[in-house]
Amino acid sequence: MYDLVVVGAGHNALVAAAYTAKAGYKVGVFERRKLPGGAVSTAEMVPGYRFDLGGSAHILIRLTPVVSELELAKYGLEYLELDPLFHASDGEGSWFVWRDAERTAQELEGRFPGQGEAYRRFIGDWLPFSTAVKEAFLSVPSPLELGRKMVWGSGLGKDWRRRLPQILRPYGEVAAEYFREEQVRAPLVWMAAQSGPPPSDPLSAPFLLWHPLYHVGGVARPRGGSGELARALVRMIEAHGGEVHLDAPVEQILVENGKAVGIQVRGERILGRAVLAGSHILKTAQMLPAAYVPEEVRKVRVGNGFGAILRLALKERLRYRTHAGDEARTGLGLLIGSEHELSRAYGEYLMGEPTTRPPLIAMSFSAVDPSLAPPGGEVLWLWAQYYPYRLTRGTWEERAPEVRDNILSSFERWDPDIRSKIVGELMQTPAWLESEFAMPSGNVMHLEMSLDQMFMLRPWLGAAHYRWPTVKNLYLCGASTHPGGGIMGASGRNSARIILRDLSRRRVGG
Ligand SMILES: Cc1cc2nc3c(=O)[nH]c(=O)nc-3n(C[C@H](O)[C@H](O)[C@H](O)COP(=O)(O)OP(=O)(O)OC[C@H]3O[C@@H](n4cnc5c(N)ncnc54)[C@H](O)[C@@H]3O)c2cc1C
Repeated sequence: MYDLVVVGAGHNALVAAAYTAKAGYKVGVFERRKLPGGAVSTAEMVPGYRFDLGGSAHILIRLTPVVSELELAKYGLEYLELDPLFHASDGEGSWFVWRDAERTAQELEGRFPGQGEAYRRFIGDWLPFSTAVKEAFLSVPSPLELGRKMVWGSGLGKDWRRRLPQILRPYGEVAAEYFREEQVRAPLVWMAAQSGPPPSDPLSAPFLLWHPLYHVGGVARPRGGSGELARALVRMIEAHGGEVHLDAPVEQILVENGKAVGIQVRGERILGRAVLAGSHILKTAQMLPAAYVPEEVRKVRVGNGFGAILRLALKERLRYRTHAGDEARTGLGLLIGSEHELSRAYGEYLMGEPTTRPPLIAMSFSAVDPSLAPPGGEVLWLWAQYYPYRLTRGTWEERAPEVRDNILSSFERWDPDIRSKIVGELMQTPAWLESEFAMPSGNVMHLEMSLDQMFMLRPWLGAAHYRWPTVKNLYLCGASTHPGGGIMGASGRNSARIILRDLSRRRVGG
């Protein structure tokens, strides 16, 4: 009998399991895949080349106390800092976002007079707000808490009457208020687009206004690949007496008299005082008896996919046409010709068509971590948007080669010889992401990251406190819950706080 049985070994579930094990409770994690970490995992997909299969840029988790509180360095996690954080390029020239905001501003001012000053103003205006949002991410959401942090707290400061309307605007418009030069604006807008909503969406400005925090927490990579975060969590859980079972698909969450009492894995009943589901909310619903699935589940907005990624093993190092130095290989490449490119990509997506000339996020982290590729080789991962899961024409299997080709054509603007360097590859379409990670529609954030599904509205009002509303002792965490997708661990940490409070008060299991 476990104190806590956990469905799924995504990084959030592992974080929650780790806090619970650390508090002295007996924890058992059950994951359907052969690897831990869900969308934070790494595998040798081409001999000698290690590919991340999901998220790669560790940004959000660096703003949390998760890594230090769980002492993950002791369990093998080593973060490599990226500096520069970003390499921005329109295909004609390159500029860099350095870890140091002032260095970034100075360089920008030298290349684009007036824009360094705009950058300084942008960072100064929005650092308090983004810090308040980050704090809200690290607590269980409630309207009072949110109001206190955002409006009355330091988030908007005395200036809140002027700032509030800006926050409610589309991020594309807010970027235009600050940055005159498209070469500066477009990459920042493209980075903000990573959460899913397009630059024209009202209420989306916070995705851009988050930018100042990149200079606070930085962008980092676990040595050995993203999945090393998951492996360190597994080691930590095991060191505290917990168990992580892989290749162990959960078929059912067992409910008796309105209380979760365990799970069923390959026909075997596994009992626990409490159950935590870190799986996608729709998958969790499928594991429950129909009588316990509320109407609201059917209304969550999963969307229609949004990204695809081509992972390449290269036989030689990358060399950018726009900047030959290694700085261009280090940080995340924000490669976008113009804002129009992003609008067109979204337009094609709305028509149910894969983007024909995608903007790209280029990641060649063998530049900072040689363990990812053989000597002299390189990994290059090209994330692109937008790609609908449901296509107007054909299946994903049929359309994948054309999508691959368009991603490579886009990248040829930066390296015309790219095709001749490829020795192995993996094309991850929305359909691939869905089947690998049990992420419906291939939405890497689980649910759309729009304001109607954030904070206490995620996954829906009434289930925002990491509890399944109709079943006692059934807890939730993961990207389907507050604060949403991304490598952060905050939902696992928030959820663990509630579970531990209930376990310690013996509210659970009776
Ligand atoms: C290609 C890609 C690129 C990304 N890039 C970034 C990035 O650079 N930076 C960033 O911050 N974020 C990125 N993300 C997003 C981020 O990785 C995810 O939002 C986050 O990892 C979700 O974590 P999670 O723990 O909430 O859930 P998940 O990782 O979705 O984990 C859920 C787990 O539950 C398991 N499961 C489901 N059903 C069952 C069952 N019946 N039995 C047992 N187990 C089950 C699944 O197999 C999975 O392991 C990316 C994601 C992808 C896919």
